Amino acid sequence: MFVQVAVNVPHVSGVFDYHLPPELAGRVSTGCLVSVPFGKQTVQGIVLGLVEQAQVMETKPVYALLDDEPVINESRIRFGQMLSEATLSPLAACLALFLPPGLSQQADTLFRLVETQPETQQALSPRQNQILSLLKERGPLRGRQIDAAFPRRNWKDAARKLVKAGWLTLQPVLPAPSVHPKKARMVQLAVPPEEAEVFRDRLGKSEAGKRRWRVVEFLEKEPWPVLVSWVYAASGANSTDLERLAEAGLITLTETEVWRDPLEQMEWAPFEPPPLTPDQESVWGSIQEFLGKAGERADGAPLLLHGVTGSGKTELYLRAIEKTIADGKQAVFLVPEIALTPQTVRRVLGRFPGKVGLVHSGLSPGERYDTWRRMRAGVLPVVVGPRSAMFSPFPNLGLIILDEFHDDSYYQGDAQPGYHAVDAALLYSRAAGVRVILGSATPPVSILYRARLEKWPILSLPNRILAHRQVVEHQMKRLGREITPAADSGETAVLPLPPVRVIDMREELKDGNRSIFSRLLKQGLADVVASGQQAILFLNRRGRATYVFCRDCGYVARCARCDSPLTLHMEPGENRNEILVCHTCNYSRKVPGTCPQCGSLHIRQYGSGTEKVESEVQAMFPEARTLRWDAETTRQKGAHEIILSHFVNHRADILIGTQMLAKGLDLPLVTLVGVVLADVGLNFPDYRAPERTFQLLTQVAGRAGRSPLGGQVIIQTFQPEAYPIQAASKHDYYGFYGLELEKRREIGYPPFSRLVRFETRSLQASAGEEAAKKLAERISFWIDQGGFQESAGLIGPAPCFFQRVNAQYRWQVVLRAPDPLAILKGKDFPADTEKVAYRVEVSPPDLL
Ligand code: ADP
Ligand code: ZN
Ligand code: ZN
Repeated sequence: MFVQVAVNVPHVSGVFDYHLPPELAGRVSTGCLVSVPFGKQTVQGIVLGLVEQAQVMETKPVYALLDDEPVINESRIRFGQMLSEATLSPLAACLALFLPPGLSQQADTLFRLVETQPETQQALSPRQNQILSLLKERGPLRGRQIDAAFPRRNWKDAARKLVKAGWLTLQPVLPAPSVHPKKARMVQLAVPPEEAEVFRDRLGKSEAGKRRWRVVEFLEKEPWPVLVSWVYAASGANSTDLERLAEAGLITLTETEVWRDPLEQMEWAPFEPPPLTPDQESVWGSIQEFLGKAGERADGAPLLLHGVTGSGKTELYLRAIEKTIADGKQAVFLVPEIALTPQTVRRVLGRFPGKVGLVHSGLSPGERYDTWRRMRAGVLPVVVGPRSAMFSPFPNLGLIILDEFHDDSYYQGDAQPGYHAVDAALLYSRAAGVRVILGSATPPVSILYRARLEKWPILSLPNRILAHRQVVEHQMKRLGREITPAADSGETAVLPLPPVRVIDMREELKDGNRSIFSRLLKQGLADVVASGQQAILFLNRRGRATYVFCRDCGYVARCARCDSPLTLHMEPGENRNEILVCHTCNYSRKVPGTCPQCGSLHIRQYGSGTEKVESEVQAMFPEARTLRWDAETTRQKGAHEIILSHFVNHRADILIGTQMLAKGLDLPLVTLVGVVLADVGLNFPDYRAPERTFQLLTQVAGRAGRSPLGGQVIIQTFQPEAYPIQAASKHDYYGFYGLELEKRREIGYPPFSRLVRFETRSLQASAGEEAAKKLAERISFWIDQGGFQESAGLIGPAPCFFQRVNAQYRWQVVLRAPDPLAILKGKDFPADTEKVAYRVEVSPPDLL
């Protein structure tokens, strides 16, 4: 018997044949994790199948089986293969997504100092000396450990020369899996209770004797083995006591596997489902139909749930999960970011106590491994988590829900494979018959376009639910105030979306108001503080202080060649002048001293952070309690939870924050949302900047007016006429959709083409640029070769918007075509070199 193995080696995408040694025959099946020889190394791989005949004459043996049960089943292998093709990534990297971290290991190299140093005349370089002293200090180290010791430094050349000169030896290694099942000691009575009596006298009347007898008495009532910790707690005995009892033959001590449960520490309260509103009721009917009968496979298309913020989508997700479990299947509930969505997570935990696994980055590898094994064993039928939770090892997955699926955190761009959770879920659905529900108040234009084209079921919830009546009444009573109801609080139970006012900041300037707050926003804040309610101030973090604009007329500096917004940079070299650079075509120019449009001198970069906003608020309203929620205040573990619960419990009046605010928070006392400057994201040189601005404004506005108190939204801007701002202020999703789609059609961007982005990274500016140019030539050649000249085109090479990341220079080339994979299929991409690293991303969510 032979096995086909996908090996987990960086940049190797092949499948290789091995034979099974006699001791493994019959134990290895499809989906098993094994270690195998590969070249001179030992590497991990996943068994894709067993065959009678090998492709090659001579095969090497499988070395070991790393986990007794298969780590992945056949439908998931199929999904992995589809994902690998769709993302142009190695199959093993796609299959590795299914393994918990710690179980999946890549081969590495061990560097070791030789005992006797070589005699050599050659002087060593500083880097070589650093490597030698590191190994002297810490002993033999693996390549990845040395990487960590010299972050972003090229140490490999130096190390290789040391090996050649005889200072070091090098040996390929496969680190052992770093996680193991956790064992716990169990104890059980070894004799029938009636026989135990005779031991009573023998144990004696000493303190220890009495303790030990209490152990026996406790165990007499326990028919099954129990955890020693229970026995300790019940009897006051210690481990010596148990050992003595075991020696006397009275009890038996055994070991058993236990699950490490990350939820043990988390608080949540079980809750009963509310009766559905009439709107929810009608949507629920369609969802039930979509979920189908137990045992039925999905036919492919996902369900799109388009419901405004606060329309009660979550309740429908919970019911869909309930039905899936009742049908004997499992469900995945994906949220954008666990730390930012504690309210949603708690609702899932509360609805299905004891049945939910939680996946997040704060888990220890052991906790994650155990949650993974409980899911594989079918003990936990639900998982909540970020995009990676989709790869949970359920025996019979029935449903994947993506909540707020427009969110960019669903995209994995920083690791192999680059994938978007929405695309991946659709492939999963095709490979394994899983049903997929996509929910959002602001579906991406490309997806809604596709949904209509392919006739997916599209359900909408156009109204908000009037919620939180008791919370608000209680709070207002406490403060001795009346509620002026925002809606007829009678039978309707429907709440209007909050009115949005757009403030033209140029007018404020004309009227002599130079503050970052308009008069209306100032008044709104004053009212909120005076009435014991709450406000949110939102600041766009991305793109702050990167563009130049005129405060008098709103002019934004744009590229003279291609009209993209120009980005402010420091000139390289001696004098460090500020220059403006186009990230689409590479054009650059000096920063103008006066506005080209109106001649004003008030042309400058925009820059105002959360700190500045906070201090201005404090200056205006010394009595208001402010709270800042941004990257800086949330560096510590658990900070998100603390800040949020602080605000929810009304220990602050005004919350000032960035993007984090846009993730579905449900805050009853918030009656005012102020957007300090809506333009910021709009001036990003990316084709999705208008869409992202619209989504962000809609989501942030969605935090206001969720209770009978009602609410309002104030958007400040220098470009009040911009269509994303206009549409967001009217809650007009379809208006935005129509305009945006037309624009995309004109410029030939998705959904009217597809993009593949190639990126080079290098510590040396010139090497990265060089590589990007070579790559562009190669892709042009492929385009010509395949006869795609008519429909395909290249954008770049050009420096990326985020030009330097981790000290590395980034360049990009973008291939745009109706079907870029047809051009790239079967082509070899350049492999990483010492100097340049390459990345490929299919349909990336931005081109920054
Ligand atoms: P969405 O997910 O669409 O943003 P939520 O599910 O958070 O909306 O619902 C908004 C509010 O309405 C929440 O406070 C929720 O508890 C409440 N809610 C949802 N469904 C019902 C219902 N059927 N009856 C009463 N309250 C509901
Ligand atoms: Zn340009
Ligand atoms: Zn101007």
